[in-house]
Amino acid sequence: MQAQPTASHFVDGAYIEDEAGQAFDSFHSATGEVIARLHAATPAVIDKAMESAARAQVEWAATPPAERARVLRRAADLIRARNEELSRLESLDTAKPIQETLVADAMSGVEALEWFAAQAASIAGEAVPLGTDFAYTVREPLGVCVGIGAWNYPTQIACWKAAPALACGNAMVFKPSELTPLCTLKVAEIFMEAGAPAGLFNVVQGFGDVGAALSTHPLTAKVSLTGSVPTGAKVYSAAAAGMRHVTMELGGKSPIVVFDDADIEDAIGGAMLGNFYSAGQICSNGTRVFVQSGIRDRFLERLIERTKTIRVGDPLDPDTHMGPLISEAQRAKVVGYIEAGTREGATLAYGGGLPSGPVFDKGAFIEPTIFSDVTDDMTIAREEIFGPVLSLLSFETEDEAIARANGTPFGLAAGVFTRDLARGHRVAGQLQAGICWINTYNLTPVEAPFGGVKQSGLGRENGRAAMEFYSQLKTVHVGLGRVDSPY
Ligand code: NDP
Repeated sequence: MQAQPTASHFVDGAYIEDEAGQAFDSFHSATGEVIARLHAATPAVIDKAMESAARAQVEWAATPPAERARVLRRAADLIRARNEELSRLESLDTAKPIQETLVADAMSGVEALEWFAAQAASIAGEAVPLGTDFAYTVREPLGVCVGIGAWNYPTQIACWKAAPALACGNAMVFKPSELTPLCTLKVAEIFMEAGAPAGLFNVVQGFGDVGAALSTHPLTAKVSLTGSVPTGAKVYSAAAAGMRHVTMELGGKSPIVVFDDADIEDAIGGAMLGNFYSAGQICSNGTRVFVQSGIRDRFLERLIERTKTIRVGDPLDPDTHMGPLISEAQRAKVVGYIEAGTREGATLAYGGGLPSGPVFDKGAFIEPTIFSDVTDDMTIAREEIFGPVLSLLSFETEDEAIARANGTPFGLAAGVFTRDLARGHRVAGQLQAGICWINTYNLTPVEAPFGGVKQSGLGRENGRAAMEFYSQLKTVHVGLGRVDSPY
């Protein structure tokens, strides 16, 4: 099981290596096998990446938007044509099931590239009449944008950042998580093949220090991070020192509120997708499931029945629903949370253990886990777990549910299940979250903005809103009369 790339970094249109950088291995966490050995970027590699991106950006910004759009569309076509190969690589790198990666990773990148290609051609300013004079605005690119990714959706994260950035005329230097370094190199190759200038999308590998060096590089105009809140705070303040733009897509502890009148099977389906997809390693997961007391027992019973049908196993087997976690370290963290849940008095209603048997022995597998009788003060109801651990809480009234759902420093996402649409909108209106779903959960179509409030971040990805975070307005005031000077 080998997935060794040509070299560690893709810079200025070609693979490059610098063995002076710290070596690190990429593991397939279902078996513990090393699938590739790479090197972190040295300062020389970082400088080369930033300098070539700055050169490419000048050429790219001068390229007519319709031509920029063509390059993005060609990249989308190439990714779509290679979806199987890319998904297999993504499943090796992330250990997510192939049935997920085939539909939710590279293909999500394709959608972003296609949609932002369409936006590229419609970027325009406005004319502002001023009596005799007039002004007009121009939406300009920022320059070189740095993208820093988490390990859960490496291809999607790279494309969600690159597509709007490139559509607006920027270049990007991307650093994937060192746990998932492989797929973004393929994305960089594909951009070149699609006709992008060398250096327009560079990939450099490394740990947090490489991310920090990129965030503070003199040529960096913007940093877009997908990661945890503590990392977000560090990157935001580092970027602020240089007055750089930021987009922060950070963690969450999102609520799903299920009212008595909800379609119970749909609500359970939403809660399961929002806790067990990608083995629970999704930022917007609805990990606090508030169920109104009248249906609480039936909800729990059906939730357990349906959770029993989840097939945990080899991510490369097309029948597998749930693979392992990204690493042993992540599993140890999740196990720690399960222990805390039990210790603090929640009822372990399902799972909580490590699956056993030959398929599981060397991997970071964990059972899908349900806790009931969870209270708001418990650790598992307060902290982001980033694993397949669902907490069930019950409530009596709408006002109580809203207050408790909002009782968190996070504000990424929220869900409401009810057949009363007036209530659905009323509750969504009061939930403190960047995205609220009514009668569905965790859908992130490229057409709709995505991002958090409170500590879950700032800025938006996807939707037309994303374009505002990858461009800046220039106002040009045109004087048509005489200059009225008292001197
Ligand atoms: P981390 O915050 O640990 O890391 C994110 C990225 O930042 C990694 O590439 C990391 O490198 C890098 N990094 C670490 N320190 C610094 C630094 N000082 N300066 C610059 N870059 C740095 O997150 P995880 O990779 O563990 O991902 C899980 C987290 O991501 C969860 O909290 C999750 O909620 C969040 N997330 C948010 C999403 C959203 O859209 N809101 C989507 C997906 C995940 P390295 O890996 O080497 O540490």
